[in-house]
Amino acid sequence: MNIAAVFNALLVSVLAAVLWKYVKLREHVAVVEEELILTRQSQELSQVRIDYHGALQALMGDGTRMVCTGRMHTDRICRFNSLCYSTEANEFIFFHSNASIMLPSLGSRRFQPALLDLSSVEDHNTQYFNFVELPVAALKFMPKPVFVPDVALITNRFNPDNLMHVFHDDLFPLYYTMQQFPDLDAESRLVFMEGWNEGLHFDLYKLLSNKQPLLKQHLGTLGKLLCFTKSYVGLSKMTTWYQYGFVQPQGPKANILVSGNEIRQFTRFLLSKLNRSSEAIPTDEYIVIFSRTVNRLILNEAELILALAQEFNMKTVTVSLDDYSFGDIAHLISNASMLVSMHGAQLVTAVFLPPGAMVVELFPYGVNPDHYTPYKTLTALPGMDLHYVAWRNTKEENTFTFPERPWDQGGISHLDKTEQERIMKSQEVPRHLCCRNPEWLFRIYQDTIVDIPSLIDIIKKGIKSKPGRKKQKYTNSLYPGKVRDAKCETSVQGADEAKLSVSWQIPWNLKYLKVREVKYEVWIQEQGENTYMPYMLSHQNHTFSENIKPFTTYLVWIRCIFNKTLLGPFADVLMCST
Ligand code: UDP
Repeated sequence: MNIAAVFNALLVSVLAAVLWKYVKLREHVAVVEEELILTRQSQELSQVRIDYHGALQALMGDGTRMVCTGRMHTDRICRFNSLCYSTEANEFIFFHSNASIMLPSLGSRRFQPALLDLSSVEDHNTQYFNFVELPVAALKFMPKPVFVPDVALITNRFNPDNLMHVFHDDLFPLYYTMQQFPDLDAESRLVFMEGWNEGLHFDLYKLLSNKQPLLKQHLGTLGKLLCFTKSYVGLSKMTTWYQYGFVQPQGPKANILVSGNEIRQFTRFLLSKLNRSSEAIPTDEYIVIFSRTVNRLILNEAELILALAQEFNMKTVTVSLDDYSFGDIAHLISNASMLVSMHGAQLVTAVFLPPGAMVVELFPYGVNPDHYTPYKTLTALPGMDLHYVAWRNTKEENTFTFPERPWDQGGISHLDKTEQERIMKSQEVPRHLCCRNPEWLFRIYQDTIVDIPSLIDIIKKGIKSKPGRKKQKYTNSLYPGKVRDAKCETSVQGADEAKLSVSWQIPWNLKYLKVREVKYEVWIQEQGENTYMPYMLSHQNHTFSENIKPFTTYLVWIRCIFNKTLLGPFADVLMCST
């Protein structure tokens, strides 16, 4: 064999090997470079150090993991590891690997109608959340992910341009969802997926965490495939108190779970975060008139202000969302004795009022205050301790209508003539569903000359019925525990006479409390009967002889009641046989 040929062949193989190695190295460098760019992107986003390679390995190895709370889509919040989002497909992606977890495992029930509500508004079909599923192997064919290393809270805002919706649907639920999950701390990231721009009150959302909230439309600029390292999806509905009338006419929620304490804890947090000007607050008692400047106007506002000041001998301050910063408004209201305003979203600022203050809500002609009660319900939350009165314009000559305006500002000229006439003649808007009832919009966007004597009369009556500024201590609303060591003794007196003596010890927590009035309720039920005899007692023992029969078994239920209204739990039932 020719030695030169051997050398040549050797050289060619070495060269090929070197070339192959070079190509591999280049590929590796390209991967590393790409990962570096993606790492930088993630880091710029969150100022958190991220091990891109490690995160990618975790995603490829473990896939997505999900564990949720809640039994229904309406009360579900889910925690995810490695939940991804394709900004091209506008879809969340669950990547399956052998290590994936999906709990609850709903199968196709996940689409009936959805995994969860993304906003705090219950079961609204524009607010559903779901994801599409892929095997992790599909990642090979997809754009390299950009990781969002902050703990994210992914939700929808419901109507970010309306202050009532901002507080009720978003801020309270966001704050208390964050309280529920400890890693949703000040360094976590809010991600709003409803698709709106920042909206009029974005500054308020920014107070909830130290990081700029992300909007859906930002996500595309961050990458084609985003993966949230750790995220929570959904929003607690625990703090909402009102339903807007999507399936039945609007009104208080059926099962309100929030009290004034939680409302005020949040407003205190917000006040401390709001950077308001150092404008001095009046030291004497004062009335805040919250005025609207675009529509639903009070046409004799100056006269009203003067009359209120004279009647109640207080200063008055007029604010509007146009002329004051939100911080200044909140700060002013937080010390006011009375808040007066037309019905409207600005009245949600009543959450800032101190205990004992009064809310005066004005309604235009034809609008029944009992049918629209988001602010009345707010003031009536237990522990809010606010007084509320509604005034309604009953004089048609004092109302100003705008039939020519666009439909969403109450115009009705687009309707047929008979319908227009019917609406104009109608004296009260009948109950209706949300959100486009033309008669409702026509009436609620009227301007009003407020009849001052009738308004003052209503306020004075309201003050009389619930006088004074009282500071309610939370210890006044603590519930008793169970009574302890309950016992019964029985004796038979004669053929149809018997006695049943019952005794018990005070609830355990009572010895640490100062309670004005302690009573015990005892129910005596003959075994097998549906009815029972109730007794209200002041002492810890009692002998019953009326209606007690010999040789009969009685079930005895005992509970403690503080101050007439705070009903404790029943102790374990006693079985007492005469
Ligand atoms: N708004 C305002 N001044 C006005 C009219 C509206 O500040 O003259 C605010 C209002 O407080 C709410 C938003 O604009 O935050 C939307 O008002 P809209 O009348 O649509 O809703 P409503 O107040 O009836 O809930």
